[in-house]
Amino acid sequence: MNAEALLSFPILVLAALCLVGCAEPAPAPEAARAPEVIAIGRSVRGAPIEAWMFPGREPGFLIIGGVHGDEPIGAELVEAFAERLRADPAAAGGRLLVLVPRANPDGLTAGTRGNARGIDLNRNFPAPNFTAAARHGSKAASEPETRALVELLATHAFACVIAVHAPLRCVDFDCEAAGPIAEAMAAAGGLPLRRLGALPGSLGSYAGVHLDLRLVTYELGRRRAPREKTAEYLAPHVEALCAAVRAAAALE
Ligand SMILES: [Zn+2]
Repeated sequence: MNAEALLSFPILVLAALCLVGCAEPAPAPEAARAPEVIAIGRSVRGAPIEAWMFPGREPGFLIIGGVHGDEPIGAELVEAFAERLRADPAAAGGRLLVLVPRANPDGLTAGTRGNARGIDLNRNFPAPNFTAAARHGSKAASEPETRALVELLATHAFACVIAVHAPLRCVDFDCEAAGPIAEAMAAAGGLPLRRLGALPGSLGSYAGVHLDLRLVTYELGRRRAPREKTAEYLAPHVEALCAAVRAAAALE
């Protein structure tokens, strides 16, 4: 060790000690946690419509699957994201996350797009562009499944709402403020951005346009997962939901 090195040695030791002593203690990893499951309503046939609540600060994040009963992949993606949050609570970023994996339980059981009365819930929301029709309902929010989501949207403040559908294989958004979240999801999930337009009585028209919430419609490429490869198929889309949470935090 030469003279210069001898002089700098104590400084290095001091610097190292300071780094050890002054550094913020590493946050303890959060323990895996199960969501609180509440029923936000009941379907036409009386099945509970569950919301899985991961507590955190508001405005929260709402993720909805299974609005169309013939798209079970949407419910599976939201459930897979819940698994991710259980294993890695930091993925929630400290925010309230509300997951409704099966918004249309009767339709999912029967494998039908609509509910037990044949109403397409995604045309039944009380948006100004609602149009009465046999498959839209005689009036807006005529269906108990629609009302459950409307009440949930009125109960909590949400920074972002994501609805998972299939099989159009794209990421769509209604209000411009949702653009950065949709872009982050498209990049993580490997899907193109595509504007589908606000359909009458859709959740996009109600929450995205009428309530002016950041709403993203995440359209998977297939209605059902490939057999025995569900986790593999869903993995990038679970990442897309994680990316959405991070992108929303960056907008605050
Ligand atoms: Zn759909």
